[in-house]
Amino acid sequence: VVSASGPAGPSALRRHNLGLVLTALREGPFSRAELASRTGLTRATVASLVEPLVARRVLAEELAPPRGVGRPARPLRFHPDGPVALGIAVDVDRTVVVALDLGGAMVGRREIVADHRAHTPDELVATAADLASTLVAEVGRPVLGAGLALPALLAADPAGALVLRAPNLPRLTGTRPGPALAAALGVPVVVDNEATLAAAAHLGLAGDFVHLSAGIGLGGGIVLDGRVFRGARGLAGELGHVVVEREGPACGCGGRGCVEQYAGRGALLAGSGAADVEALVEAVAAGEARATAAVARAGAALGAAVTSVLHVLDVSTVVLGGDYARLAPALLPALAAELEARLMQPAALRVSTLGPDAPARGAAGTVLDRALREPDALMITETPESPSPVTTLPQFR
Ligand SMILES: [Zn+2]
Repeated sequence: VVSASGPAGPSALRRHNLGLVLTALREGPFSRAELASRTGLTRATVASLVEPLVARRVLAEELAPPRGVGRPARPLRFHPDGPVALGIAVDVDRTVVVALDLGGAMVGRREIVADHRAHTPDELVATAADLASTLVAEVGRPVLGAGLALPALLAADPAGALVLRAPNLPRLTGTRPGPALAAALGVPVVVDNEATLAAAAHLGLAGDFVHLSAGIGLGGGIVLDGRVFRGARGLAGELGHVVVEREGPACGCGGRGCVEQYAGRGALLAGSGAADVEALVEAVAAGEARATAAVARAGAALGAAVTSVLHVLDVSTVVLGGDYARLAPALLPALAAELEARLMQPAALRVSTLGPDAPARGAAGTVLDRALREPDALMITETPESPSPVTTLPQFR
């Protein structure tokens, strides 16, 4: 609760209330009266909050159907030309950019397929910036900011998130891609781990859950109390390194027998003999025995690891994303059997429908969440001419 007096002050109260109204509108459209009842604010307060946003074309009034006498209630919704957030996912083999409106709907998407492993950090940033600029020109709406999803462990840092480890894009290690991208795009950029952002993309869809995605490694994300759980140093969710066999094969993390060695993409391809994920998905769909068995073995190992995680966290939903969603027909039975045999309480298994765009959507969602929590940004609906400061993650907590 924010009080009108004391350290929070009136402007913090106004921001808080505006955040309530904008968050409510994500379920909209609603009239001012409906917004008042949904937020617990007075109608006068709601009116004073929304008028400036209508004037700035962040919100739009719908034409109300005629209904009897008196002033009609004109529902409010996010303006169709209003600001958008960009989500940019740079992965080993592609760059994806999406634009989401304030309601979270995708209004544009672009993708480039290219092997990025040999590219310098500057080249990666330039590719991402070009693709994003093309999309921005296409969408033709003001940009609030951009989220950048990387297959990397990152350290939050005032000078921009620092890449600690990026096994699959090793040239990024030790760099801060955020400031360069922010300078190229002229909007604030937040950088985060792709698996964390993929989990964040499912916020609100599944209560509390553990999200697992097979990309190059095995990505994990934990959502507790409706928020992504980041841990003390922002590194939580490394579910790929849950140990399933003490003396198992060596892992890139320096340990042994991590579930990534049994259920990551490398293990899936090696076990199935498939050349790539596309071939594996096709082989599984065709019911090929070797491919199906390899995916089932991965599912069983995953089940053992997930059991430990669920027992520790007392979360009852598992969401499968990335390659796991595509391999679900062969993966789910083995995973479910393992969970049933091991779990003390039952869990729900859900397959993500967001597809490969989940990290990019989660990245844009981070920008939207901040815009709704700190709505001052919505008062600037022009794309700035000069580079804006890069925001690092701690400010988002
Ligand atoms: Zn490991």
